[in-house]
Amino acid sequence: MTAEDLAQSGVDGAEARREIFPTLADGISAAPAPSDSEERLAALRRMSVMLAAAYLAAFGLAVAARGRFPEDAIFWCWSVATAVLFILGMTLWQSLMREDRIKARRIRDRDQRYRQTLALLPEGVVILGEGWRVEWVNARALEHLSLGPGCAGRSFFDSVHDEGLRRWLIERNFSGRFALEVPDGRRLEVAVVAPDARHMMIVTHDSTERMRLDDMRRDFVANVSHELRTPLTVISGFLELESAPGSVPPETLARHRELMYEQARRMKSLLDDLLLLSSLENRDEHPDEDAEVIAVPRLIEDVAREGRALSAGRHEIVVRTEDVSLIGIADEIRSAAMNLVSNAVRYTPEGGSILITWHRFGMGAELAVKDTGIGIEARHIPRLTERFYRVDKGRSRGTGGTGLGLAIVKHILRRNGGELRVESVPGKGSTFALRFSESRVFAEGK
Ligand code: ADP
Repeated sequence: MTAEDLAQSGVDGAEARREIFPTLADGISAAPAPSDSEERLAALRRMSVMLAAAYLAAFGLAVAARGRFPEDAIFWCWSVATAVLFILGMTLWQSLMREDRIKARRIRDRDQRYRQTLALLPEGVVILGEGWRVEWVNARALEHLSLGPGCAGRSFFDSVHDEGLRRWLIERNFSGRFALEVPDGRRLEVAVVAPDARHMMIVTHDSTERMRLDDMRRDFVANVSHELRTPLTVISGFLELESAPGSVPPETLARHRELMYEQARRMKSLLDDLLLLSSLENRDEHPDEDAEVIAVPRLIEDVAREGRALSAGRHEIVVRTEDVSLIGIADEIRSAAMNLVSNAVRYTPEGGSILITWHRFGMGAELAVKDTGIGIEARHIPRLTERFYRVDKGRSRGTGGTGLGLAIVKHILRRNGGELRVESVPGKGSTFALRFSESRVFAEGK
């Protein structure tokens, strides 16, 4: 049962609490159900009346029998009747008491079972009694609210000092949830089930991960919109300018067309990268059935050729490979390697050099792209694989970057059992390496 279920099952309703935790609910109020005790009293009353009537009847008979029967016989009959009635009364009384004890034990056992179940819930549960006294708390709530084990029996507010939560609890408007940010940065959702004015059950749910994903989704939509808006603005601006016939001289018109084409290309490469990323995300994480033996040296030669075309003679691109094959998905490994080479070309000033290597690394193997480019400050390195994260936005866009290349590389490596290593010195250059474990390496005679 989740916090949602609890909250939906009748916030502020005794019904819900009785339905979910019937004996626990009774345990909290520490009183037997009124109908039960009334029934018991009526049974006792009936029993006493019947015994008294039987005793009076026996007494009447004894008086009526005087003079007709010998005194001794009457005395003995009277004594036997009294003893029988006494024994009968005691037996009835005892059976009532025993039944009571059995019921109390059953309630205790069930109560304990419910508490054990509550203790295992992934949600935190705190049961408060009169005066905000903590009656019971599970381990998850101790962790969520940083409560000490000694909080039981003390006021909830001795341990939880959040002013907003305090006000919300006191106002008792429990139709919604309270969003609580705890000191360690986690975000909790707090729901309350309050069966009456004196008791309540607080349920805490850790929503940190869900909120992080929500934030990421929002950022992603904002980033994509922003990336698409710029080229679209340029294209629509030019089209507007040209809408009046003869308003733009033919030589300027040609230049406009060139710029519009460039912007359209930029949008296309963004959409291509987005589609690739989304298809990588939707595919299986461990696609072993699609894996094949890849002749990496040949693949690297193809990638280097494309890199040289991209560089158009501005860089020296050198390849050094060992005769080792890789088990993976060839198209994806090619795409990852091409992303690294294209980055090296784009972030290395003219005259710099790029070295692409493929070699054994320990028991595994490594494909590395080393450049003598602008380098990256250490603080940016952990964030490079985030979508749209760029160290220098202007330079990235200016060279046709989408900000998605390394995010794509990360996904490809996840699917192909590799990891990305980055080493960089600002102003000197960077090395981006795809490192694969032994299980992915295929060497003749291995
Ligand atoms: P982009 O399309 O912007 O290049 P990437 O995801 O490929 O996006 O790279 C993210 C950022 O990492 C880049 O914007 C750039 O700042 C930095 N970067 C990537 N490769 C290099 C490199 N070889 N040298 C310097 N900076 C790099």
